[in-house]
Amino acid sequence: MDVTFLGTSGAIPTTERNPSAILLRREGERFLFDVGEGTQRQMMRFSTGFDIDAILLTHLHGDHVLGLPGLLQTLDFNERTASLPIYTPAGTADTVAHLLKATKTNPIYPVPIHEVSPGDAAVDRDEYTIRAFETNHRTISVGYALIEAQRKGRFNRKRAEELGVPVGPKFQQLHEGTPVELDDGTVVYPEQVVGDPRPGRRVVYTGDTRPTDTTVSAATDADLLIHEAMFASDRGNRAKQTGHSTSREAAEIARQAGVDRLALTHISSRYSNETEQLETEASELVNTDVCIPADGESLTVPYPDSD
Ligand SMILES: [Zn+2]
Ligand SMILES: [Zn+2]
Repeated sequence: MDVTFLGTSGAIPTTERNPSAILLRREGERFLFDVGEGTQRQMMRFSTGFDIDAILLTHLHGDHVLGLPGLLQTLDFNERTASLPIYTPAGTADTVAHLLKATKTNPIYPVPIHEVSPGDAAVDRDEYTIRAFETNHRTISVGYALIEAQRKGRFNRKRAEELGVPVGPKFQQLHEGTPVELDDGTVVYPEQVVGDPRPGRRVVYTGDTRPTDTTVSAATDADLLIHEAMFASDRGNRAKQTGHSTSREAAEIARQAGVDRLALTHISSRYSNETEQLETEASELVNTDVCIPADGESLTVPYPDSD
């Protein structure tokens, strides 16, 4: 699984940073979180391709959605036929529809618009879900958490062979939790050869928000928390007034949630190419990896127990 930061600027673009957009790739699936102005050009610039399965919006401020009509129109020019669902916070579907209508964005492929409330699974698969959680940003907003299901425990091949299980389909059956009977009548149980289930990964993206307990819950033990950090701590009041967070506040959330890695994004234009203060103030507070990705930067999220 990896995450590519297509736009990392807060509110307005700068020459270094584009407004918000994040591409998450998991196995063969690709999700675009927020679509700031110029996102399609960032996709070209960083060679990600336009092949996306769904778009998930955190809120409808312009710096998160102005790239939507253009991207959908380009996909239409490219003769996309597959449906492209858009997930948006409950109460905002009409506004998304208006945005598309006002820009004559009327692609040939279906664009169903689904509303999500905190707690809803926007994407629900056997192996993982992408669930909305509550954020606090002076407009209707949500964050998103990709949560993988537990994975099967490790199969102890050596132990299975010692117990006399023949190499073949019985290995598979045991790994899937079914006892098997050997030729001599002995029964081998899964717990003899399969380890404890292993945790899946968790990646959380807040969108724009004040620090909230709901982010702490959503991000508990996350492998990666992507939290907005619009300001440094000397602009704390401004953060409060505008419904944003300082990097120190984002780090405090990461500390409470016990996340492995914190990526700060939605950086105010005042710090666009001088992010040291933001990074230092966050790093001082939390004993975890803190980074402020540049546009085009990708982060890989490996399994914690990857081989
Ligand atoms: Zn924003
Ligand atoms: Zn906003």
